Amino acid sequence: MSKILYYSNLLKTGKISSSELTKIYLDRIEKLNPKLNAYIRVLPEYALAQASKCDEILSKDKSSSPLTGVPMALKDNLSVVGLHTTCCSKMLENFKSTFTASAVKKLFDKGAVMLGKTNLDEFAMGSYCNTGIFGPARNPYDLEKSPGGSSGGNASAVSAGIAPYTLGTDTGGSTRQPASYCGIVALKPTYGSVSRYGLLTLASSFDQIAPMTSTVTDCAIVYDAICGHDPDDMMTFKRKYEPTYSQLSGEVKRLRIGISDDFLSSSSEETIESVMKAVDFYVSKGAEIVKVKLPHIKYALPIYYILGCAEISSNFGRFDGIRYGYKTSLQYKDIDDMITKTRTEGLGKDIKRRIMLGIYFLSKQNYKEYFQKASMMRNELIRDFSNAFETCDLILSPTSPTSAVSLDFTPETIVEKYYADACVAPANLCGLPALALPCGIGQNGMPIGMQLMGPNFSEGTLLNAGYAFEKECKPELKPSIGVNYDL
Ligand code: GLN
Repeated sequence: MSKILYYSNLLKTGKISSSELTKIYLDRIEKLNPKLNAYIRVLPEYALAQASKCDEILSKDKSSSPLTGVPMALKDNLSVVGLHTTCCSKMLENFKSTFTASAVKKLFDKGAVMLGKTNLDEFAMGSYCNTGIFGPARNPYDLEKSPGGSSGGNASAVSAGIAPYTLGTDTGGSTRQPASYCGIVALKPTYGSVSRYGLLTLASSFDQIAPMTSTVTDCAIVYDAICGHDPDDMMTFKRKYEPTYSQLSGEVKRLRIGISDDFLSSSSEETIESVMKAVDFYVSKGAEIVKVKLPHIKYALPIYYILGCAEISSNFGRFDGIRYGYKTSLQYKDIDDMITKTRTEGLGKDIKRRIMLGIYFLSKQNYKEYFQKASMMRNELIRDFSNAFETCDLILSPTSPTSAVSLDFTPETIVEKYYADACVAPANLCGLPALALPCGIGQNGMPIGMQLMGPNFSEGTLLNAGYAFEKECKPELKPSIGVNYDL
């Protein structure tokens, strides 16, 4: 059942007020967050002020949006005017935003109540939510396991029932991979369908803001609320967005679902088994299964990391200690020395590694060999997908090759660490929409997730296919800590 609609119904029938609902969530956060570290900043006064305004609206207008008066949380790389936006980095530890992100503003205009800001890997670089300055977030299914990353705080909070829904960001899978680790739903929208204005840029040609929710229906409601053209983000499309919520019929007859061995080969046995059960479900509902080839998928991770690092190295030039953010307190000889000291002290290891790699890939002697080659390969991958979508309506794959890894997971190489993004990064490289939702439970009781990818602007089809599955096959997942729906 949709959590948002459930709360909205209680609010509109006067069974509970937004202020009461908000207080319930603030109490839960107080109890559970010390264990989960999902929130890095809780904002009770802010939330209660918004809730009381919503109560006024709800007392007059019962036809308001289903989001009115329902609490939520934001990843701490999304700007809200006057509030801290730290990106979990020393560089921005004391930074306060001077404007509100367009997607967040759209939610506020519909009466969303913000409970606080959630934990992430420093500057959203990472897959385990363990590189930020506020310490790691934890997985509600097993506190010794990672909630995934970078939007690990969001996934942990939704999964444990301490946020009804959240907005995360997805540059290379950062909402879908944690959704899969924590047994929740996330939708990475088509590139350009949700404004990035006010999202602290990671890699501009990949970044999208994405809803993370308990159910597919909630995902549709939040996506419908945040999508659309924004004059402040020139990459957003001017087009009519048909509400996806009204496309949730659960009918998948004759839907052509593509399966590719190129995706499956990299995943664990139990993951493949769960995804195959989903395939059986769709077949039983009259969908057609089509084998598709994605020959360049094996290059997706190197392409992502070369192009991503290149964009990061250029975007991160702005953290120089001059305009905003951290500035060294050490003595410096000249401006170069000041910038070097500021960046050395203010940025974490992974950020520095990516900046250095990006500069290397973009340098005159390496540009052709790396950046240009990766850009060409990106086009090949885009071509793979458009060829595949001539024979199928969507592609089904695992979300993550394995279920959640433990918090002290220490990969032997960096490449192994990046491997968690193998199934999710392709959608970012190609700008495609992708929905992640739970499809099974592993032997150790941890959630397993599947992913549905479609052509540009096929969010409605993806959400409907996810809805059909969720309605009949939602795995009986039980976090070891947390509260589910009920008040
Ligand atoms: N794990 C990916 C990375 O570290 C995801 C980043 C993201 O989506 N924000 O680049």
